[in-house]
Amino acid sequence: MITYDGHVHTPFCPHGSSDSLESYVEAAIQLGYKGMTFAEHAPLPATFCDPVPAQDSAMTFSKLNHYLEEVKLLKEQYQRHFTIRIGLEVDYIEGFEEETRSFLNEVGPFLDDAILSVHFIRLADRYICMDYSPESFKECVLELGSVEAVYDCYFETVLKSIHANLGFHKPERIGHVTLVRKFQKQFPATFPYINKLKPIFAEMKKRNLSLDINGAGVKKPLCKESYPPVEIEKLVSEYQIRCIYGSDAHAASQLASGAAIVQPFFRSK
Ligand code: ZN
Ligand code: FE
Repeated sequence: MITYDGHVHTPFCPHGSSDSLESYVEAAIQLGYKGMTFAEHAPLPATFCDPVPAQDSAMTFSKLNHYLEEVKLLKEQYQRHFTIRIGLEVDYIEGFEEETRSFLNEVGPFLDDAILSVHFIRLADRYICMDYSPESFKECVLELGSVEAVYDCYFETVLKSIHANLGFHKPERIGHVTLVRKFQKQFPATFPYINKLKPIFAEMKKRNLSLDINGAGVKKPLCKESYPPVEIEKLVSEYQIRCIYGSDAHAASQLASGAAIVQPFFRSK
């Protein structure tokens, strides 16, 4: 039974809805949840150029303090009957580890929770937001040579994120580990990919990191499955990885996305 949502966005997200923080909390209470983590996209490193056209992948640095203050206020307001954790979804960007570490050193003391996610992959001479659109995914395929090469690149980057020295406040949960499958209906995996996750889970287990069981993909027309999909559940339980549900909601109406489908990850736990 899912009663906690560990991955919720907010009006501070430039590509999300303007639904208020309160509206997320009230919707979650209606669903019978006991708590949630607000995990807004942390500001990207100052020297990193957001490759998406509107450059709106993450919250701007100027809004960070306001965000932290607002969530803290709400946390105090609801503390008697609903748990709110102050969090961030932090991008791992290969080559920007130092900046990410100093950011986390600065902001970490104000956080209760955080997610480490890969959206950007490094190509020969630039970065691409792999999950931005089918077109951006296709660019990755053309540059790397095959869909399988994009999977390998994505999973290698996730593995690097797990190994990266991001300091004392490094997030302890890995976000949407199979985001590379967001457009799988258009770019099917014609190769077995499940084994490719083994080194990731082995390293996560070693470091006691938890896994975001992210329901957002279920409603994406070219994905139609969770990140990771239910077929991965056996492997996840084999490695005894702790699972935390995340709706990845960017609007209050998106809370509980995919929650029914991901139940197998949470049976009798
Ligand atoms: Zn987002
Ligand atoms: Fe994400």
